[in-house]
Order: sequence, then C-alpha cells, then structure tokens
Amino acid sequence: MKILTVIGARPQFIKASAISRAILLHKNVTEVIVHTGQHFDENMSAIFFEEMEIPQPKYNLEIHSVGHGAMTGRMLEGIEKIIQDEKPDYVLVYGDTNSTLAGALAAKKLHVKVAHIEAGLRSFNMQMPEEINRILTDRISDFLFCPTDAAIENLKKEGFDNFDCRVFKTGDVMYDSALHYAAVAKRKSKVLQDLKLEPNRYVLATIHRQENTDDLNNLKNIIAALNEINTTQRVVVPLHPRTKNILQKNNLTPSFTIIDPVGYLDMVQLISNSSLIITDSGGLQKEAFFFHKNCVNMREQTEWVELVDNGFNMIAGTNTEKIVSCYRTMIAKQNDFSINLYGTGKSADEIIDTLIAAK
Ligand code: UDP
Repeated sequence: MKILTVIGARPQFIKASAISRAILLHKNVTEVIVHTGQHFDENMSAIFFEEMEIPQPKYNLEIHSVGHGAMTGRMLEGIEKIIQDEKPDYVLVYGDTNSTLAGALAAKKLHVKVAHIEAGLRSFNMQMPEEINRILTDRISDFLFCPTDAAIENLKKEGFDNFDCRVFKTGDVMYDSALHYAAVAKRKSKVLQDLKLEPNRYVLATIHRQENTDDLNNLKNIIAALNEINTTQRVVVPLHPRTKNILQKNNLTPSFTIIDPVGYLDMVQLISNSSLIITDSGGLQKEAFFFHKNCVNMREQTEWVELVDNGFNMIAGTNTEKIVSCYRTMIAKQNDFSINLYGTGKSADEIIDTLIAAK
C-alpha cells in the first residue's frame, strides 16, 4: 500500500510526524512525502524534519511567497504530476492550508482516495482562508478523520451522512505528537536556560493569523495588550516571519521578549513551563490544554469549541482591554484538566489501521 502525504506548513509537519511513525510500524505500507514549500525558512521547516525525525520529502515543490490563487494553482499542477507518477492508494492531507486543498483536489480529480486528517472543524468565519480550505477539502475527501465530537456534529449538520464518504472520530494526532515529544523536549531543550526563564513565571504568546497581522489596528491592539501584561509577568513571543515583517515595515517595537520561531522541542518546553498561553494559533490552543495551561484566545471565534465550553480557553478577540482582562481572569483560574477531549494519544495508529482495513 502506498500513501502520498502532502504537507507544506509548520503545523502539518507536527501532525504528519505522528502518522509517519505509525506508518513505519507496517512493513507493507510505504509513504512518499511531498513538501509543497509553503513554509521554507530553516526554523519553520527543516528543523521539524530533523528534530522530529520525519522522513525526508521525496519531492519539494518550493512554492511560496505568492498569493493564495497562484500558490494553490501551482501546487495543484505540481501535485497532480506527482500523483500520476507515483500512483498512490491514498493521498493524505492535513488541516486547512492551501497545500491541503491543492492535495485533495489533485487527488480527487485523478480518482485517488483522499484522507483528510483534522476534518470537520469550522470557525464559521468565511473571511478566513483556512475556513474555505477546510470546507472544500472535507467535501471532496473520501475518509474524514475528525478529532472531536464538535467536528463530527459539524459534518452531520452539513449533510455528510448523505455523501459518498466515510467519517471517523479518531482524536487528535497533535495530542499523539505532544505526548511523544514531551519527554524528548525535557531531555534535549535548553531554551529555558538560554532565555533565562523560570518555570511558571512567564507567559508564552504567538501572533500570526492573517486577520491579526494584516489589520494594523488589530496588531497594534494586541501589541499594546502584551506590552501591558509584560509589566506584570515576562511575555515571550516566538515570532512568525509574517508578523516580523509587518512589525519591521511599520516600525513597531514591542517591549516584550521577541525570539525567532523555535523548533517543536523548544516549543513544547516553552509551553509546558509557561504560566499561561496567549495566542491566535489553532494548534497552540490545544497544546495549552495538553500541557494543562489556561489559554487566552486572540480571535473572535475558535474551531476548538470544547476548550471554551469547558473553561480552558477564553475568547478575547483583539481589543486591548479585553485581552488584559481575560489574562487577569485566566492567570488566577484553577482548572481541572483531567477531562479527555482529544483522544488517547493513539490517533495516528487508528487512522493508519483504518486505511489499511479499507484497502
Ligand atoms: N510552533 C512551533 N514553534 C514556534 C511557534 C509554533 O513549533 O515558534 C508550533 C506550535 O506549538 C503548534 C504549531 O507550531 O504545534 C502551530 O502552528 P501555527 O500556529 O503556525 O498554525 P496553526 O496551528 O494556527 O494552524
């Protein structure tokens, strides 16, 4: 059995690492990895393959730094050619990026079975490119692997019971990765010493969502909030290249600690020793929960509604006062994290077993 994996962005490397490990347990399954090139900086791409021991991509399309249309179109063309050459049994796509949509569309038109990992998530905000990508990808996928009950419900409401596809609840492969690399991170990461950070005495934040970086008002509000929080507790931000460029272009110089993006081992170490997470990232909201940290969400909505419903995550949006007041609430709040929201950490095995059984 041959699986073609299409990945291109940082969170996809983290998710795919769990699946690659599960595939390696099966001698009769081979994986061919296509890297679309969407993320290409050393610390946004190569470091993940090295540290997480992800098999090297056989193909790198090196498509990046162009608009959504050009990017998706060029990827579609490149992936189609590879599928024709490789003739895989399945094409695996992850999450909600342009690489996800291009991989799914190329495969579907060639009548190759598409498996979507992290299916069924919705923000119900059609302004987000991610929402468009995930809705279209779900609709043309043959196997939809949903991480949560909410994702299953979303698909039901959209009529997926009537479509020619199979929907599974498998838990979240990111949880598999978090569990697997937590011990490695503890052994190998020196990031706390390097940054002189004391456990539970700093806030970890990230900003990269297009609606926050491309709207200068939103970005300024966020910076003002993090600056203010930084006066009470050190705020550390591994800054996404997109956000870094916009700060530089607009001469914005925050007073909190900015560092370059870090690899997954340092990230896990930073998350698990922080006092709280503030973010607009999808993945990081869940990782906060995995490592028993409260989270303030700098978006207007989330796909991970169970975090909000259970009080682990507070939606702050991008209003400065609201972010600071959510921070004050969440830093004081004691939560019980024992509830199981994202599976058992064995999602990748379940997904691969399902695909093998269906062949
Ligand atoms: N991440 C990382 N290094 C960083 C910042 C983030 O390894 O410097 C990880 C983070 O822990 C999470 C993933 O990257 O696993 C999230 O990616 P991102 O926020 O870019 O995308 P999203 O999850 O919002 O799609």
